[in-house]
Amino acid sequence: LAEGTVLIANRQKLNYLRFESHMESDISTRAKLLSELRNAIHQQSIFIEIQPKINLHSGSITGFEALARWELNNERIPPDTFILLAETSGLITKLDLLVAEKVAQAIQKMTKAGVSYPIAINASAPDLLHNDYRHKLFEILDEYHINPNQIELEITETKAMRDYHVIAPQLRSMIEMGMKVSLDDFGTGYSSLAYITDLAATGLKIDRSFIQKLTQSEADEKVVDMILHLGRFFDLDVIAEGIETPEQAERLKQMNCPSGQGYLFARPMSVDSAIQWVKLHNKQAPKG
Ligand code: C2E
Ligand code: MG
Ligand code: MG
Ligand code: MG
Repeated sequence: LAEGTVLIANRQKLNYLRFESHMESDISTRAKLLSELRNAIHQQSIFIEIQPKINLHSGSITGFEALARWELNNERIPPDTFILLAETSGLITKLDLLVAEKVAQAIQKMTKAGVSYPIAINASAPDLLHNDYRHKLFEILDEYHINPNQIELEITETKAMRDYHVIAPQLRSMIEMGMKVSLDDFGTGYSSLAYITDLAATGLKIDRSFIQKLTQSEADEKVVDMILHLGRFFDLDVIAEGIETPEQAERLKQMNCPSGQGYLFARPMSVDSAIQWVKLHNKQAPKG
């Protein structure tokens, strides 16, 4: 009873202490996770899964997107967690270049297996604030004898995109080299229209949130339709991400959306599984 009384009397302080120790453990968890992430990048144990992009009209495969994966003590850490950690700790460019190298290896492996498709890599805005990323990326492509037109860059619009005057020329020079550049999660970020008008992008990826509400919400359908029009106006590739149901795919097809990606077609998978998946898929739908 005495203890309980103390607890009640000191509730505020206790809550504060609890908060403080929680915070402390968060900080040390972050520090531990960060040092593990640094190790994983150093040991190149970050790996990729790839997810196909599909032409919604012909059903053919148009390419893949590579997604970074990290396993720590047999558990997967969600990309949203470790990408943010990498972005806020200055590790992101190393991580993204490691992913680029794994993608170069994947393209080689797939080409040998007779299934050659472009693969997209995700780049974070900090990558594009200096020349290093671009130079090293082209070194990797050189080393693996990969044509830049087999690589696509997906950039998420973040606050860092406000440094537009720095990023846009980088993107433009990559486009000149033959790479494609899409604005990821399009419709949710910053400065999207400036990018389009300055021709620092060749494509738009309609954010998953609009696709998921597509068949239920008229407003979301209007947003999707607007992005599709925007794409046609500016002659951009448009792809819908996060397609999960046949109804969503059907609606997008009716709206003349050229391509799509999502669990409906395939989940992200290992490169070996993707090779098998492509062979099976191409038996059913002709290669485009
Ligand atoms: P993103 O680039 O927009 O990638 C799409 C995310 O949606 C991926 O999540 C993918 O697994 C997931 N997804 C695909 N189809 C569906 C679907 O039908 N339904 C649902 N609910 N989700 C679907 P993931 O792999 O967890 O990656 C999350 C984010 O982390 C990515 O979003 C990207 O912004 C970032 N990311 C992943 N890999 C890298 C990387 O190598 N470098 C950088 N800078 N960012 C990365
Ligand atoms: Mg992406
Ligand atoms: Mg996206
Ligand atoms: Mg995203």
